[in-house]
Amino acid sequence: MQRFFAGLTDPGLLRTSNQDAYYLDDLGRFFVVADGMGGLTGGQEASRLATEAIYQYLDTHWESSEAPDVMLRKAFIAANDAILKDQYHHPARADMGTTAVAVMFREHDDQLSTDHTWVAKAIEVGELTVDESKHHPWRHVLSQCLGREDLNRIDIQTLDVSGGDRLLLCSDGLTEELSDPLIATHLKSIRSCPTAAESLVDAAKQRGGRDNITVVVIAFQN
Ligand code: CA
Repeated sequence: MQRFFAGLTDPGLLRTSNQDAYYLDDLGRFFVVADGMGGLTGGQEASRLATEAIYQYLDTHWESSEAPDVMLRKAFIAANDAILKDQYHHPARADMGTTAVAVMFREHDDQLSTDHTWVAKAIEVGELTVDESKHHPWRHVLSQCLGREDLNRIDIQTLDVSGGDRLLLCSDGLTEELSDPLIATHLKSIRSCPTAAESLVDAAKQRGGRDNITVVVIAFQN
């Protein structure tokens, strides 16, 4: 199955800085969206550190024999460690943190969970949409608030996707402005990922754009 993808971030209409960050792996192996918090520089630094650490871990260990869920969990622990280390060296950023959502694609994995409660609004995190997912269980998704000593919540699930599905990773700057059905309409009606990403960000801005808006759109084609 082929994957196409695009990402876009925008400060929105009211915020003077953009504390979101995203990462698109050139090879389409994994994707990350992070939404930082904790002051002007802190939030930016936290989301950047998290996306970089997750990328570094997954890229370095991609060919290892680690199970995908273990690999993803360790990547997030590495991200948390990176933020804690930075906090230690820069006390001004001591309260910085970030949410993060990531998806990685591996073939022939067992399904881990079908629980969708990981979409925890309470931790101000990105959200993921799957249309009619049925086959090829190989998707792991994880969300977490990073930059705290007690890393007590790392949720991972396996998703089954098939041709025609689109996945969305985003920050809450999108979901605060657009309802899930409206987001789904955008994803279904648009053919190219860059266009879909632009369309979603524009729609969120038209409805207020009160927060930073970040989207990563992934489309699957047989
Ligand atoms: Ca946000």
